[in-house]
Amino acid sequence: MSNTWVKTWMRTPKINCGRCGRAACTGFARALVVGQLELDDCPILRLRDYANLRAELEAMLNADSTPRTGTAPELPEGGVLFTQPCKDTNDRVMAELSLHNGVKPGESMRFAVFDPRTLCDLMNCLQSQFDLVKCSRDLGYGRADVDEMNITVLQDGRINMRRVKDRDQVMSVFGKLERALVGATICNCCGCDLLSILSGCVEPADGDKHTVYDAGTNMSIDEKSAQLPIRRAEVELALDENAKHALSLIQNLADHLESGIVQLLDGSIELFRAVSSEEARCSLVELITNPSLYGNETLLLKVLALVRVIYDALCGVSELAEILMYTPEEDRDAILTLVSMAQSGELSLQMKTIDDQRQILAHAHSLRLNRAVRLLQEWVR
Ligand code: SF4
Repeated sequence: MSNTWVKTWMRTPKINCGRCGRAACTGFARALVVGQLELDDCPILRLRDYANLRAELEAMLNADSTPRTGTAPELPEGGVLFTQPCKDTNDRVMAELSLHNGVKPGESMRFAVFDPRTLCDLMNCLQSQFDLVKCSRDLGYGRADVDEMNITVLQDGRINMRRVKDRDQVMSVFGKLERALVGATICNCCGCDLLSILSGCVEPADGDKHTVYDAGTNMSIDEKSAQLPIRRAEVELALDENAKHALSLIQNLADHLESGIVQLLDGSIELFRAVSSEEARCSLVELITNPSLYGNETLLLKVLALVRVIYDALCGVSELAEILMYTPEEDRDAILTLVSMAQSGELSLQMKTIDDQRQILAHAHSLRLNRAVRLLQEWVR
């Protein structure tokens, strides 16, 4: 599934507009592989410029149309599959643990446990806590070393530890990893990762709730609060001084987005480079792995989701700047109308009257802006 998913995702438009009902093309690719969605569910793939990608996807799906499903394993106590002395040194232990993705034991599992890309984004934020961190964005395989300890994270949710001091250290490290990485777990109902779902942009694909709300072994997602908009005041109240640095970084991202949209509208933009969201993301991962702040996982995961949406919108501004650059003067107004609607968070997901290819693309990118603007309106309310 992983390899098929990577090949499929590589051929999606990677616009993350949400028009297919998934928050991002990663979720669409998974839904496509298991037959939940069809190529026609992505309006971008119907465009002339995407005909080659669509043909390649069609060929791949025709060649390999068997959905691969497995069965969710039993959930071991505390996530620990086993601990035992290391083979080469008796004063250290090795352990295998499993991060729960919310699928009940024995139920059919459509997808892997971790979304590889989100996994690596989150795992790379652990650099400050380990001597070495490596993660493959295609394979969903991560490795982290500190002192003598060696940890591997696999796409199926298993976490292997070698040369750990004792069982207490196993549980303490697992507690941190679980909180840092749970945002990358994939929902069994829709194929989207938890962070996408916490941004509020994806409806459950079947049943009445996202299965990934039940993810976590030694921590849990507060389902009710997960479905509410995230507010800055709520974070300040819960985390006090601890959140100050992260909040100022988020403000910088939000200001950069606001100024990018203004520049699009007043025509002063030429080349727009999205600033990195890595510092904001990593400062939140630092908070979520801080044992003194355990209990605030849902809140912090929602803020992580917000950061990702803002960054995605910044990429949307960059794409729109390029589209405008190549759009004749007389056709720009139609695009600027879409951006203007996104600026106030009023852009509709469906725009049936648009039939021009450039405008359809502009609408898709404007939707990324619209999503961030809406979340930011709630954020400061
Ligand atoms: S509709 Fe948008 S999010 Fe969905 S696959 Fe197409 S480009 Fe990606």
